[in-house]
Amino acid sequence: RKGTVIITGASSGLGLATAKSLAESGKWHVIMACRDFLKAERAAKSSGMTKENYSVMHLDLSSLDSVRQFVANFKQSGQSLDVLVCNAAVYLPTAKEPTYTADGFELSVGTNHLGHFLLARLLLDDLKQSDYPSKRLIIVGSITGNTNTLAGNVPPKANLGDMRGLAGGLNGLNSSTMIDGGDFDGAKAYKDSKVCNMLMMQEFHRRYHEETGITFASLYPGCIATTGLFREHIPLFRLLFPPFQKYITKGYVSEEESGKRLAQVVSDPSLTKSGVYWSWNNKSASFENELSEEASDVSKARKVWEISEKLVGLA
Ligand code: NDP
Repeated sequence: RKGTVIITGASSGLGLATAKSLAESGKWHVIMACRDFLKAERAAKSSGMTKENYSVMHLDLSSLDSVRQFVANFKQSGQSLDVLVCNAAVYLPTAKEPTYTADGFELSVGTNHLGHFLLARLLLDDLKQSDYPSKRLIIVGSITGNTNTLAGNVPPKANLGDMRGLAGGLNGLNSSTMIDGGDFDGAKAYKDSKVCNMLMMQEFHRRYHEETGITFASLYPGCIATTGLFREHIPLFRLLFPPFQKYITKGYVSEEESGKRLAQVVSDPSLTKSGVYWSWNNKSASFENELSEEASDVSKARKVWEISEKLVGLA
């Protein structure tokens, strides 16, 4: 049978390119979990995906109610779940003031980490029950976890500190909007959220891999300098960033190539190892990359997990 894969944020960039690559293989039914139904439909059509290979379901990760509703709708559909890809993200590098999710969490960490954390937890049982030969939960990471690269060291650097802001709910009322309790910084909030993503992948692995056989993985797909992720950035940055990545850092990848990489992590029979953070060398070969000290800190992972459970109402 065809595998069923849910991809969050499949309406543009990496998520769309991955959806296209998997749909074209003929081996997957792709569920595009998107906040903007029409945009997702149009994106699927214009990228040439055919109707029998995908469906669009509404999911707004910046609302815990919407996450719960999505999961209820999916369960009701009676489909099995073979792979879940947590891909969607917002990046607000020029925001002067914080904005918030429906539940009052700072938007970047609330969407990229907390929304996905609840989604993955609620769908874990479905993955567990799948009889697919290799079931996987993939959480897209970023370079901010690589200490072995230049880009991973550009300030403001990710730092979760003692997590007092996260414990307080990131609401800017009785707690800071930043995980470490500091002043709001949109670029840092994004990086912190990606560190949470990578920590959660490893914590899932430690808690559930042996028992369930699910492969948990993260990846850095390369710098896809042309995606909508940079839509909030200043125009000069958007103009110069792609050539800078192409010719100076040489980390640039096209959306198509990045989609092929993530599609490999979804379906390649050789990428079944769990707990791995995949990256690709400049010949586009995958390898197991090292994570930064913070992004692989076992006690921090446990703490993020426990605080997040409380924030999303699982504990
Ligand atoms: P895009 O902005 O193109 O795609 C992000 C997707 O997330 C969009 O489909 C967007 O929906 C969706 N999204 C945003 N907010 C929500 C929400 N509240 N609910 C549901 N969906 C939402 O960026 P990329 O493709 O570049 O990013 C995809 C992933 O790749 C992210 O996890 C990012 O961190 C990671 N990444 C990207 C890199 C890059 O260089 N671009 C490098 C490393 C990692 P909509 O279309 O409606 O806006």
